Amino acid sequence: MTRYRIITGYNWQYGLPRPSQVVCVDCAVNTIAIDEYYMVHDHLWERAGMATDGGMLCIACLETRLGRDLKRTDFTDAPINQVTDRRSAHLRDRLGLD
Ligand SMILES: [Zn+2]
Repeated sequence: MTRYRIITGYNWQYGLPRPSQVVCVDCAVNTIAIDEYYMVHDHLWERAGMATDGGMLCIACLETRLGRDLKRTDFTDAPINQVTDRRSAHLRDRLGLD
């Protein structure tokens, strides 16, 4: 079985996380509820000042921390980025899907 580590430290192989595990650490929005779960490259996550197991960020808060918009190449090829049915408009735009 392929093992992959989600940048937030949550292992999605165990299914959907509990609500307390998915709130944006900056604005407290539920990232599952707004369909903003994704994986970016580790170096980007570190540049945003996030620890590997430091929680989750919504797209807007991650972009605020980085000081720029995300682009397609910021996202990894992890399966979580390939879910097609549930994505916020913001995330779809950054993934280049619209
Ligand atoms: Zn946020």
